Amino acid sequence: MLLTVPEAHTERCSQHPSLSTGYAGRVRSFPLVSCAAVLQLIRVPRGGTNSHLVQAAERAHLTGAERTGWMTTTGEEGMAATAEVVIVGAGIVGASVAYWLTEFGMRDVLVVERRVPASGATGKSGALVRLHYPNPHETQLALESLRFFQEWESRVGTSSPFVRTGFLQVVAPDDEAKLRQNVALHQALGAPVTLLDRAAVAELEPWRELGELTVAAYEPESGYADPIAATLGLLARAEQRGATFWPGTTVTEVLLAGDRVAGVETTRGPIAAPVVVLAPGPWANRLLAPLGLDYQLLPRRVQVVVFRWPLEPAPAHCCGIDTAVGLWYRPEGKTATLVGLEAGVQPADPDHYPETADPSFVAPARAAIARRYPALAEGIVRGGWAGIVMQSPDGRPLFGPIPEYSGLFAFLGDSGTSFKTAPAIGRALAEWIVSGRSSRDLTPFRVARLAEGRPWIDPTDYARPGRTVSR
Ligand SMILES: Cc1cc2nc3c(=O)[nH]c(=O)nc-3n(C[C@H](O)[C@H](O)[C@H](O)COP(=O)(O)OP(=O)(O)OC[C@H]3O[C@@H](n4cnc5c(N)ncnc54)[C@H](O)[C@@H]3O)c2cc1C
Repeated sequence: MLLTVPEAHTERCSQHPSLSTGYAGRVRSFPLVSCAAVLQLIRVPRGGTNSHLVQAAERAHLTGAERTGWMTTTGEEGMAATAEVVIVGAGIVGASVAYWLTEFGMRDVLVVERRVPASGATGKSGALVRLHYPNPHETQLALESLRFFQEWESRVGTSSPFVRTGFLQVVAPDDEAKLRQNVALHQALGAPVTLLDRAAVAELEPWRELGELTVAAYEPESGYADPIAATLGLLARAEQRGATFWPGTTVTEVLLAGDRVAGVETTRGPIAAPVVVLAPGPWANRLLAPLGLDYQLLPRRVQVVVFRWPLEPAPAHCCGIDTAVGLWYRPEGKTATLVGLEAGVQPADPDHYPETADPSFVAPARAAIARRYPALAEGIVRGGWAGIVMQSPDGRPLFGPIPEYSGLFAFLGDSGTSFKTAPAIGRALAEWIVSGRSSRDLTPFRVARLAEGRPWIDPTDYARPGRTVSR
């Protein structure tokens, strides 16, 4: 006897148009005797073939009640786990996607993480939360995300990881015209940003050496966050709303059925899913290469060092980026300052790299911060570390649907600047998955832009050869 899939299942497909592409039709025409019969089909032995997984993926549209008694999200031997969406990586972006998918009502979301949350770039991040970008697209993501950080407790339910300090952007004298243009753009977008003249900067931070500064951009509402607390908070909220988290599990392969996603293979067995979101940070290339995808992404090692002020009390200063010096910094607690440099960021292997800062990094970092905060020429080193970011060829992130494979989405090439924007990036990806489109125009971030020969170039960028942005 041939029956069609119960109405409830096809309704779910229509709620999630992106899941329906090449999928709902297949479910509708699937020769079912009953849901129980489908369940028999998807008892996949470990090492089962892709076609078994396709059948299992189709199962992912059954309701929770119909799974009870057979499905496991603990990767039990002899069964294929399933999910509506599998997210690869529990950095800030993967956690944000999980948060937003569950905010939009999805429950069957599985986050797979090779180690623990925030064990990639996120856990090492300077985590500046600021608005200053030389284009409207990243500024809008940053502004939406700043509002999210400001409303953290009511939205996420954990104590806020965000610390408001204010933010100062300083540039070299020959970039001041660009700075003014950028601030005008930010203001037009409604961002809380003002221009400060030399006297106003001196009043804001009397302990600062002004150098050649005549004007700076000031963001009174910006600051920084604890990136690990932020990731854990988003994941906890997603789990509270029904998402499942598998730490200590590596995704070894994205599984395909023709030109669509069927799930993932993991070190705990296969997971069947019609939608897979890749947010694997600097480990992306090893999942992309077998799919024939190459975005020329390069893992790069970024260092920071923390100096304790030799003063008591230490000044409560702003976060800042100073492209005249090639420096970024933020308070680290109440008595120290965390310092990063724009130069000297080297390619590295994310599985084998020194996680502490090099001794040779300390002197240039101290010299750079002392040009602005002279008291830190005698700053006392309290530690330092290194993390790996994934650099895209044009230094801007790539994210959205992967056009080659239906059901595959990705956030790639964070380029050292995507902690602060992760709340908005997660929302955009979740919107695509749930409704098939994003509520804002994210065309500039499309993954195809490099293949189209249209790298992202901002005329008002302060970029200098040999410098990267990790802040
Ligand atoms: C020193 C430093 C300073 C920075 N400063 C700032 C800043 O001030 N402001 C800012 O906005 N950004 C900053 N950044 C950049 C920011 O931290 C990153 O852009 C952001 O954290 C990227 O998050 P992500 O979730 O994409 O990647 P990641 O945090 O790298 O997360 C990827 C996760 O995926 C997991 N994973 C990878 N492969 C697999 C697999 N096959 N299976 C399962 N799990 C997998 C990893 O273990 C990891 O947990 C800085 C980065 C560094 C290193």
